[in-house]
Amino acid sequence: MAEKRDYYEVLGVQKNATEDEIKKAYRKLAIKYHPDKNPGDKDAEEKFKEAAEAYSVLSDAQKRRMYDQYGHAGLSGSAGGAGGMNMEDIFSQFGDLFGGHFGDFFGGDIFGRGGGGGGQRVRRGSDLRVKVKMSLSDIAHGVEKKIKVKKLVPCQHCNGTGAKAGSASETCPTCHGQGRVTRVQRTILGNMQTVTNCPDCHGEGRIIKDKCPHCQGEGVVRDDEIITINIPAGVMDGMQLSMRGKGNAAPHGGVNGDLLILIEEEPDNVLMRDESDLIYNLLLSVPTATLGGQVEVPTVDGRVKVTIPAGTQPGKVLRLRGKGLPQLDGYGTGDLLINISVYIPEHLNKDEKKMMETLADAPGMEPSTQDSNRFIEHFKNLFR
Ligand SMILES: [Zn+2]
Ligand SMILES: [Zn+2]
Repeated sequence: MAEKRDYYEVLGVQKNATEDEIKKAYRKLAIKYHPDKNPGDKDAEEKFKEAAEAYSVLSDAQKRRMYDQYGHAGLSGSAGGAGGMNMEDIFSQFGDLFGGHFGDFFGGDIFGRGGGGGGQRVRRGSDLRVKVKMSLSDIAHGVEKKIKVKKLVPCQHCNGTGAKAGSASETCPTCHGQGRVTRVQRTILGNMQTVTNCPDCHGEGRIIKDKCPHCQGEGVVRDDEIITINIPAGVMDGMQLSMRGKGNAAPHGGVNGDLLILIEEEPDNVLMRDESDLIYNLLLSVPTATLGGQVEVPTVDGRVKVTIPAGTQPGKVLRLRGKGLPQLDGYGTGDLLINISVYIPEHLNKDEKKMMETLADAPGMEPSTQDSNRFIEHFKNLFR
């Protein structure tokens, strides 16, 4: 796939553009590149889609935040995202922007859905939201989860049409199948046309006289579905992934809503997360810190052996490269940072106490001024 352009650049707005500015910029581009205005022009179609995709992200506060933070990678991944909007998606999601007063300037027709049958509106099913709990190990490797979702699915008895077996929907008499009604209002600027969705057929252009008894004419029924979700490695708490078309089915064979997956990170008892790095607090005994030795530390893939050099000071940080979490965009993996602490025993028996007293008298145990200064530097760094 070709490199995606920056969404702000696509819409020609600043990074700090307001919702309104984004909407206006998108409308402008949508008019310019609309397929009805540029029949057969592939380049215009691509631009139209590109603008719609940019708008779908920047007009959604959550998606915009993800995009600002992680770029395109924050929205893609194996679980879907913003990529690849088709015309159907664009018209079903942003049809409102094209309708109403906006349509007036173009005689109400220019934003009809391309290809046949006037301006009927395809209804869109609502989005479904699920929470998925992720352990650090899940996050490290990515995970496939199967979840049971209660959702609206097409009614099997009427194939989602809502019409009783043997009957069919009929052209709506109010709007004559157009899905819209036009009202003319007198204003000081002359007659203004307002186009709205037909109140009788909700813009579908068709009505059902003989309703299917299984779905009461809705064309959809409630059912369970097992959905397999692939969550990419490197996700973070609060992220939202979307699976296009896996949400509720729409009445009368419309476009499915999306399944939105909210990531919930389970806190880990031993490893702390800092973006893609992991932090472990390693408590060393006084002899090990002094003499050096081998210790085991936990990672997301089990325990690993780490060599502690002699004279390791508390507050020192050892870095195990690549033992952190993978980045969501696939570029690299974080590190495991091992913060060294030293355990000072609180209860000593007689013999241990004696040994300590012997040590206390040993000349090598006294810190020099140089050592003190080194610690002061380290201490200052903590607060920078
Ligand atoms: Zn039915
Ligand atoms: Zn109608």
